[in-house]
Amino acid sequence: MNRLDTDVLILGSGGAGLFAALHAKAGAPDLDVTVAVKGLLGKCGCTRMVQGGYNVALAPGDSVERHFMDTIEGGKWLNDQELAWILVTVARERIRELENELGCFFDRNPDGTIHQKAFAGQTFDRTVHKGDLTGIEIINRLAEQVWARRIGRLEDHRAVALIKTRDGAAVAGVVMIDMRTGEFLFVRAKAVLLATGGGPTMYRYHTPSGDKSCDGLAMALSAGLRLRDMEMVQFHPTGLLAGPETRMTGTVLEEGLRGYGAYLLDGEGRRFMTKTDKRGERATRDIVSRAMFAEMRNANTGPMGGLFLTMGHLDAGEVRRQFPGMVERCADCGFDLVSGRVEVVPTAHYMMGGVEFAPDCSTALEGLYAAGEDTGGVHGANRLGGNGVANSTVFGGIAGDTLAKWTPKHGKFRDPDEAAIAAAEAECLKPLANPPGDLEEVRERLAQLMWDDAGIVRDRVSLGRTLDGLDKLDKVLAGVGVGVDGRDLAYNLAWHDWLNLKNLILVSKVIAAAALARDDSRGAHWRADFPATGDLETSAFTSARLAGDRIDVSMRPVAFTRVRPGETLIKESAAE
Ligand SMILES: Cc1cc2nc3c(=O)[nH]c(=O)nc-3n(C[C@H](O)[C@H](O)[C@H](O)COP(=O)(O)OP(=O)(O)OC[C@H]3O[C@@H](n4cnc5c(N)ncnc54)[C@H](O)[C@@H]3O)c2cc1C
Repeated sequence: MNRLDTDVLILGSGGAGLFAALHAKAGAPDLDVTVAVKGLLGKCGCTRMVQGGYNVALAPGDSVERHFMDTIEGGKWLNDQELAWILVTVARERIRELENELGCFFDRNPDGTIHQKAFAGQTFDRTVHKGDLTGIEIINRLAEQVWARRIGRLEDHRAVALIKTRDGAAVAGVVMIDMRTGEFLFVRAKAVLLATGGGPTMYRYHTPSGDKSCDGLAMALSAGLRLRDMEMVQFHPTGLLAGPETRMTGTVLEEGLRGYGAYLLDGEGRRFMTKTDKRGERATRDIVSRAMFAEMRNANTGPMGGLFLTMGHLDAGEVRRQFPGMVERCADCGFDLVSGRVEVVPTAHYMMGGVEFAPDCSTALEGLYAAGEDTGGVHGANRLGGNGVANSTVFGGIAGDTLAKWTPKHGKFRDPDEAAIAAAEAECLKPLANPPGDLEEVRERLAQLMWDDAGIVRDRVSLGRTLDGLDKLDKVLAGVGVGVDGRDLAYNLAWHDWLNLKNLILVSKVIAAAALARDDSRGAHWRADFPATGDLETSAFTSARLAGDRIDVSMRPVAFTRVRPGETLIKESAAE
């Protein structure tokens, strides 16, 4: 196996990974920092796909306390309050850094101040944006800065296993596959950052980029780390429904449309959100998705089984001006967003759950750090639109700061457990020895199982079915080969698909096990058999880990370190 040494290895090049690389290099210029990524740097992951924008309390009348309370109320009191506080306070620094140091340029008001728009579930219009394609602006500027510095790059490199020292006390490096050749590479590092961005792509309808298959979460589980809040999978209400033949189905139409005043209509053209929530279409994602799911179950739908989004009652010129990307995306799929109706469906968008981590981004394993969508705790039971990219950039930067301080002082190249390296390689090579099989069938069965039984609405029976079904799928996948002719592993997408499915099945099991353990309904998690929220004062979060082949889930009390249920941090004057 090829070998490489680097001081700091960053897995993933989204907002979290790139911010971490820049901060690590700025804080300790002599550190050898390498970013390894499954695609091309700057061209993959979800940060690039951010449409709506970035939440930050900037305007007079808004405050970090208000942003914090929106985040906690949205998270149904399951958030780690210290992490949420860091999110809202450091976001103010980060947005200035994005503009003044990295060169982003966000939309402006006529007086030159940054324009902030409405997003659902917020008591103040605080979403900073660049039209409706904010992520491209952020990721392009970040990538330019990374290219301009002496930061190593391993593109088209897929991380497959975190390798510890022989005594298991610390991380020693990562086994990767160079996807261009299929060769294995062991990267030894003094510190590793997990920033592979989660991504619930196991559901029938989903939004994240195709390179995301929960690899970081699966690697963390296998390394013995705990994941929290894994039952909390967010469905975005407005995924495009363009038919089964196109990958455009499931891609998201941004929240700003509902924030701006779009209506949702049932199959007969009637608004239905007004009967569910006084905020109507501007209710939080979980509430809107559930209301849509109920209409779908009652077959009160459009021709493809979805609901309709319409902006026809709004000023057509303004809709075109404010949402050019969305108008174009709909037109590409044959829909007229400005004056017609677009068929939409709730689509799996974001995982609130992830690796348990500390405010400095350290984890329970020495030398291993985590940031961005791979982590859990910031958002609790529900992520507010606009808090996702804030999370990845805020904590990515913090991770970089920590790595710059920790690595020169405490980091050292450690001898890896060589047996674990060999085992990781052997595990990846398994499907090459099997007779060719039908991966598509496994993917279809996984997508349908998760959508039907562990999605927007669950109960004990459906979750039991999910766990049984996933065990069976695991066995089916183990027997499926990827039909490698002459073992040509260069850009072997079938092989990578097999590896993706392996990780997705494992993480799906954790989602289902955590959902079974939580016998209440909060935020994104709705148990039809336990519809009550439960006592907020005794709120507990799920914490899951692998124990052999079993998934062990425990409930842990939420620490109300800043505010208790029923209290608020918003000061009277700001609350007016
Ligand atoms: C369509 C869409 C729209 C969105 N809009 C908004 C919005 O308006 N506002 C908002 O706040 N949030 C939004 N989000 C969420 C937001 O994109 C994410 O919260 C955030 O960008 C995640 O950043 P990240 O750095 O953690 O992960 P990502 O940006 O997804 O980056 C993950 C990186 O890890 C790499 N990777 C994955 N697996 C491996 C592996 N095995 N080895 C090596 N590298 C790997 C990927 O290739 C990628 O480079 C949106 C998401 C989507 C999908």
